[in-house]
Amino acid sequence: PVRYYDWIVHHCRRTPDKIALVDLASGRRFNYAQLDARVSQLAGHLRDQLKVSAGDRVAVLALNTTDTLEVQFACFRIGAIFLPLNTRLTVPELHYITGDASPVVMIHDDDLAETALAVAKLCNVASTLRLGPGGSYEAGIASARPVERFEEVTLDDISTIMYTSGTTGQPKGAIITHGMTFWNCVNLGGPAYISPSSVLLTVLPLFHTGGLNCYTNPVLHSGGTVLIMRVFDPAEALRLISDPAQRINVFFGVPSIYQFMAQHAAFATSDFSRLIVGGVGGAPMPVPLLKTWEARGVALQQGYGMTETSPAVMVLDREDAARKAGSSGKPVLHTEVRIVRPDGTDAAVDELGELWVKGPNITPGYWNRPDANASSFTDGWLRTGDATRMDAEGFYYIVDRWKDMYISGGENVYPAEVESVLHQLAAVAEAAVIGIPNEQWGEVGMAVIAVKPGHSLSPAEIHTHCQANLARFKCPRLIEFIDALPRNATGKIHKPTLRQRFSQPKP
Ligand code: ATP
Ligand code: MG
Repeated sequence: PVRYYDWIVHHCRRTPDKIALVDLASGRRFNYAQLDARVSQLAGHLRDQLKVSAGDRVAVLALNTTDTLEVQFACFRIGAIFLPLNTRLTVPELHYITGDASPVVMIHDDDLAETALAVAKLCNVASTLRLGPGGSYEAGIASARPVERFEEVTLDDISTIMYTSGTTGQPKGAIITHGMTFWNCVNLGGPAYISPSSVLLTVLPLFHTGGLNCYTNPVLHSGGTVLIMRVFDPAEALRLISDPAQRINVFFGVPSIYQFMAQHAAFATSDFSRLIVGGVGGAPMPVPLLKTWEARGVALQQGYGMTETSPAVMVLDREDAARKAGSSGKPVLHTEVRIVRPDGTDAAVDELGELWVKGPNITPGYWNRPDANASSFTDGWLRTGDATRMDAEGFYYIVDRWKDMYISGGENVYPAEVESVLHQLAAVAEAAVIGIPNEQWGEVGMAVIAVKPGHSLSPAEIHTHCQANLARFKCPRLIEFIDALPRNATGKIHKPTLRQRFSQPKP
């Protein structure tokens, strides 16, 4: 097995004075030498004082902060497993996860102290550390002796347990190895133009793969600079990207991030000229939204991935962005994909099937989930559950999740296609389509729509627009208006909540 090499040590040797991390909320800036020193002290504190051994889990429950990345790298140095936790979860939900992953240390925000301590108590977590000025985390770093000898860690060892977004059900703990993260850095580096000159603004939560690996870890792996925003704020993101002093040239978001920015008044006057990459993925991206950004001179770079694939599987090159709008591009280096029919044979060009993935960036399995492992892998291929097709030029289109597809009058309907048409209506702020059981048709589509403030939209206008742009069986028969769609922490629309609210839950 190949050894894991510490990237921070490497860049500390080459470019010690270069800024590695900026914590926007607190104004703290760390160059590679400072980051390296803090990580070593923290690793020493975890190992020597808190008795964390190789293979032990170290949990973090915090809004975005550069501290979370220090914990990640400190875990790597002592062979411990990094366990970032979703800050939006309640005590019982976190209890489910920590019960599953049984961390020995819980590192937490001041703001989340109550939740963190309650969970730590329920799961008998041996130690807790509080972040922030005057907290035990800083005291631990200040008092510890730095680790001199790192634990021998190979690319096959587990680095992280990362829970999936929980868009379709209970989040599952994906086992992430050092190798998976390394290969993701390699796979994304080229198509996303990641280099030592990269300056990334991270707005997605670091406890999900989007925030951590698109492109935070790849940029640090390359020796670039990462600015961490505590909580996504569209106005602040637009201001920072426009500010020449920040030199931000890389950005990543799920579709809703780009939607909230595009809907902000400052969007029209923001300066995107320094942006080399604006990556988007994680959920179906409405083509009208791609066009809105294109009109401002930004060719958003679509990609497809999942927690289990750490995450990049496909990326669309910038050069193809306009011509192939709506495609997730082609597979990244060192990753194989197949589109498979229900009978296990390969689908033809343009034929819809399930996407299967294989490669060194794919998880070996889920933590403590033999059921999910059995149902998710076939002959070493991870079955993604995503309905996908490939065109004659080899470009892939993620159509939707199989689970979200519904059947109306015997015809399959993929909600993402209908949602994209609904987004063409200028008054639509957010749109989601779900299948509702119906005696006559089996299921019919229901569009749940949030209208932009100051706009109005009638069901009749929606019906007329859909009928002009979609086959009859795809047109949603039911329409509901809502103030805002339910979303999970990543910003993805949470359809189980919609189904629960508007119909019987689908099995
Ligand atoms: P859970 O597995 O817990 O239900 P999740 O699948 O949303 O949650 P993630 O691993 O964050 O958790 O997301 C991966 C999923 O996101 C993919 O399986 C796919 O359904 C969706 N996705 C990612 N990129 C795209 C894309 N470009 N277009 C459409 N869907 C995408
Ligand atoms: Mg999933």
